[in-house]
Amino acid sequence: MSEDQPPAAAATPYLPLFLRAAGRKAAVVGGGLVAARRVETLARAGAQVFVYALRLDHEEFAPLATSFAFTHVAREPQRADLAGALVCYVATGDPADDERLHSALAGAGVPISVADRPNLSDFISPSILDRSPLVVAISTGGASPLLGRLLRARLETLIPAAYGRLAAFAGRTRAQVNDKLESPVARRRFWERALDGPIAELVLARNEPAAEKALAAALERAAEDGRAPPLGEVYLVGAGPGDADLLTFRALRLMQKADVVLYDRLVDPSIVDLARREAERIYVGKRRADHALPQEEISDLLVRLARQGKRVLRLKGGDPFIFGRGGEEIEKLAEHGIPFQICPGVTAATACAAYAGIPLTHRDHAQACVFVTGHGREGALDLDWGALVRPNQTVAIYMGLDRLAELTQALVAHGADPALPAAIIDNGARANQRVVVGTLADLAARARAASLRGPTIVIVGTVVSLRDKLNWYAPERSD
Ligand code: SAH
Repeated sequence: MSEDQPPAAAATPYLPLFLRAAGRKAAVVGGGLVAARRVETLARAGAQVFVYALRLDHEEFAPLATSFAFTHVAREPQRADLAGALVCYVATGDPADDERLHSALAGAGVPISVADRPNLSDFISPSILDRSPLVVAISTGGASPLLGRLLRARLETLIPAAYGRLAAFAGRTRAQVNDKLESPVARRRFWERALDGPIAELVLARNEPAAEKALAAALERAAEDGRAPPLGEVYLVGAGPGDADLLTFRALRLMQKADVVLYDRLVDPSIVDLARREAERIYVGKRRADHALPQEEISDLLVRLARQGKRVLRLKGGDPFIFGRGGEEIEKLAEHGIPFQICPGVTAATACAAYAGIPLTHRDHAQACVFVTGHGREGALDLDWGALVRPNQTVAIYMGLDRLAELTQALVAHGADPALPAAIIDNGARANQRVVVGTLADLAARARAASLRGPTIVIVGTVVSLRDKLNWYAPERSD
């Protein structure tokens, strides 16, 4: 690990977990709608529920009483009532009463949750998608329960109702699989195939007996294969310019399969967070003139890890084949016969242009767009200037911040109009995106005045002048 490791994404102060409530005592304070929902959730989980309220709303509680057992205590609870309880919900429907009861009950050593008052609560209740035994719980950390419910509605449509059967099936056959397959890696691969292939389809089609047969047969085959040493593979994945929204579905799928993740500075921590949680993470640095691990060593590391049978995810900023040295990395892999996949990503130039409201091509302005690097090999800026100053094209310059003055002067020296519009986009497609607009003559000075820190993309061409007309839809604009 290097010391310029990017900071971790902000964490929630809540610990996500599923508490075993079966057979445990639990208290609900209140007799209205919200209290009734809490009683139902607790009773479903098998808790022994005590409801403290002078009276219970008949409409809410009468139907509940036909399916679930709970004890009504027709008075306010005391702290001592909570002895031995797992949790306590306070939801009287009256904020002042809730607050008063919270003060009276706090300190009993039992976690308390007050309806709609995250600040008073030791825990908050997630939105729940119930496909028992499969349960998805969603929290927004109390920020917007409604958003959680909207998300839940979306997941309802994504997760087939029969997934509960699939989870139950996996639970029933788990010991059988553990017996046959010793290595955790082999087990995981087995389940990945089983839960996402024909066996799962049989379960979802309610044909469990056939699914069990198919599983047993697949298990025999996997146990045979397991004796040969596994060969890993490498996924060279473009992570886009920094906004996790710009990842591709394929990138996300590969990220979820990885055993180990190699990432560098250009990859936003929020994106690295999306990789499989158990995956080992290795920071391989890379910053202008300060490469934490030389390219050669990164390539060697990829080969070494894959040889250990691991699925290695190499996350690259933007697109792996655009100034990403992805080509060099796969040459090494091919040399050693390691299987690999390349997943393209949104490259910085197109992302920055879109988020800054600048079309890279336009019928009236530019019929071509050239991507160049402003970071010369061994220091020299060895570009084909004649080609870059042609009319009717846009030039997008990667890694151009350090030598912006030199670059813009060279373009003018080779015949470009000093008044040609140019923009520099710093941290494009990220929350801290900044856009500085000028001309070839003054862009370097303006960028200096704005103390841009990079990464930046420079866009040169008359398309930049369209920005004022088009950027009304750009998501971020802090300039
Ligand atoms: N493979 C990457 C480019 C790697 S070179 C891609 O396709 O985007 C690194 C350069 O990319 C940086 O110096 C900068 O010029 C550019 N870059 C990457 N992310 C950027 C971002 N979010 N905003 C602006 N420029 C970015």
